[in-house]
Amino acid sequence: MKCPNCNSKDIGKIGSHQFYCWGCFIELTVNGEKMSVYQVEEDGTLSSLDDLFFEEMPQDFPQIHISS
Ligand SMILES: [Zn+2]
Repeated sequence: MKCPNCNSKDIGKIGSHQFYCWGCFIELTVNGEKMSVYQVEEDGTLSSLDDLFFEEMPQDFPQIHISS
Protein backbone atom coordinates (compact mmCIF):
# COMPACT_ATOMS: atom_id res chain seq x y z
CA MET A 1 0.00 0.00 0.00
CA LYS A 2 1.05 3.58 -0.47
CA CYS A 3 0.33 6.64 1.56
CA PRO A 4 -2.51 8.62 -0.03
CA ASN A 5 -0.89 11.82 1.14
CA CYS A 6 2.76 11.55 0.13
CA ASN A 7 2.77 8.30 -1.88
CA SER A 8 5.47 6.94 0.35
CA LYS A 9 5.71 3.19 0.66
CA ASP A 10 7.32 3.57 4.05
CA ILE A 11 4.24 2.46 5.91
CA GLY A 12 4.53 0.86 9.31
CA LYS A 13 1.86 -1.35 10.77
CA ILE A 14 0.78 -0.31 14.24
CA GLY A 15 -2.39 -2.35 14.59
CA SER A 16 -4.53 -4.94 12.90
CA HIS A 17 -6.09 -2.24 10.75
CA GLN A 18 -3.84 0.67 11.54
CA PHE A 19 -0.80 1.89 9.71
CA TYR A 20 1.56 4.78 10.12
CA CYS A 21 3.27 6.72 7.40
CA TRP A 22 6.84 7.60 8.22
CA GLY A 23 6.97 9.90 5.23
CA CYS A 24 4.43 12.45 6.42
CA PHE A 25 3.62 11.18 9.92
CA ILE A 26 -0.04 10.43 9.48
CA GLU A 27 -2.02 7.45 10.61
CA LEU A 28 -4.00 5.33 8.21
CA THR A 29 -6.90 3.25 9.39
CA VAL A 30 -8.28 0.58 7.10
CA ASN A 31 -11.76 -0.64 7.82
CA GLY A 32 -12.85 -3.08 5.18
CA GLU A 33 -12.92 -1.23 1.90
CA LYS A 34 -12.60 2.14 3.54
CA MET A 35 -9.47 3.99 4.46
CA SER A 36 -9.33 6.88 6.85
CA VAL A 37 -6.45 9.24 7.39
CA TYR A 38 -5.59 10.92 10.66
CA GLN A 39 -3.02 13.40 11.74
CA VAL A 40 -1.50 12.69 15.11
CA GLU A 41 -1.42 15.82 17.20
CA GLU A 42 1.28 16.61 19.70
CA ASP A 43 -0.94 15.56 22.58
CA GLY A 44 -1.61 12.19 20.97
CA THR A 45 -5.09 12.88 19.74
CA LEU A 46 -6.06 12.12 16.20
CA SER A 47 -7.69 14.59 13.88
CA SER A 48 -9.31 13.26 10.78
CA LEU A 49 -7.89 14.30 7.45
CA ASP A 50 -10.54 12.46 5.50
CA ASP A 51 -11.95 15.70 4.19
CA LEU A 52 -8.69 16.27 2.39
CA PHE A 53 -8.70 12.91 0.67
CA PHE A 54 -12.19 11.54 0.45
CA GLU A 55 -15.45 12.88 -0.81
CA GLU A 56 -17.53 10.76 1.50
CA MET A 57 -19.88 11.48 4.31
CA PRO A 58 -18.18 11.50 7.69
CA GLN A 59 -17.80 8.05 9.15
CA ASP A 60 -18.48 7.32 12.76
CA PHE A 61 -15.24 5.65 13.59
CA PRO A 62 -14.39 4.89 17.16
CA GLN A 63 -11.67 7.00 18.64
CA ILE A 64 -8.29 5.39 18.49
CA HIS A 65 -5.62 6.19 21.00
CA ILE A 66 -2.07 5.22 20.22
CA SER A 67 -0.57 6.18 23.53
CA SER A 68 -1.04 3.70 26.31
ZN1 LIG B 1 2.64 9.83 3.92
